[in-house]
Amino acid sequence: MIDIGVNFHSSQLKGLDAELLSRAAAAGVTHFLATGTSLHASELALGFARGHARVWATAGVHPHDAKHWTPESAARFAPLWADERVVAVGECGLDYNRMFSPREDQRRAFEAQIAAGARLDKPLFLHSRDAFDDFHAMLRDAAAAGAHGVVHCFTGGAAEAEAYLALGFDIGITGWVTDAARGAALRDAMRVIPIERLHLETDAPYLRPKNAGKTRPYNEPALLPFVARAVAELKGVDVAVLAAQATANSRRLFKLPG
Ligand SMILES: [Zn+2]
Repeated sequence: MIDIGVNFHSSQLKGLDAELLSRAAAAGVTHFLATGTSLHASELALGFARGHARVWATAGVHPHDAKHWTPESAARFAPLWADERVVAVGECGLDYNRMFSPREDQRRAFEAQIAAGARLDKPLFLHSRDAFDDFHAMLRDAAAAGAHGVVHCFTGGAAEAEAYLALGFDIGITGWVTDAARGAALRDAMRVIPIERLHLETDAPYLRPKNAGKTRPYNEPALLPFVARAVAELKGVDVAVLAAQATANSRRLFKLPG
């Protein structure tokens, strides 16, 4: 299986590379995308990917960090985005929930990253929280300009999922789907998300799956099978079929070698 969202640079996972990868391998999770959320985090993600044959990186600026986006930022990201081990532009998007950056800054940083993805023909690794109207409007323009990608850690309902799918974007599913209370809308949305259009991710160290039982205090790639199990149950398919399909989807979207 491929975990398309791991924050290896986070304070909780830093330095645990070897044990995280070996526990993941034992659980059947063998390939990873290290998430880049700022210039520094993206450099760390790429460095990590260069050191591990089955790790690739994303490079971009999370909406929380968008206030640090300057006219020079695109040039500083250019060598990262051009690197063959960077397989997506992002994490980028809009987050009007926590508002760590003003909305105008978020939109400016997002627009520049959409343009980079289209220019380089690399998928976007997308984040949206409480920003559907603006996010969807920008994605509609992006799709018209040829952009593609995945809405990572999707937490919305069926109508939102259908809107993104209609624009050609795939959907990333995390342990949010295992949360019967908070994840109710997402669990309902699984009806309209075809298994050919979804990707599996832990977003570790965040969002520890509720069905994983007693685990370490943080989420980690070894727990991805619990996300797969919950999705398979909701879709009414065998977990092995679901996992194989998600792996094929991620290989295709991120153009990972066979
Ligand atoms: Zn995110």
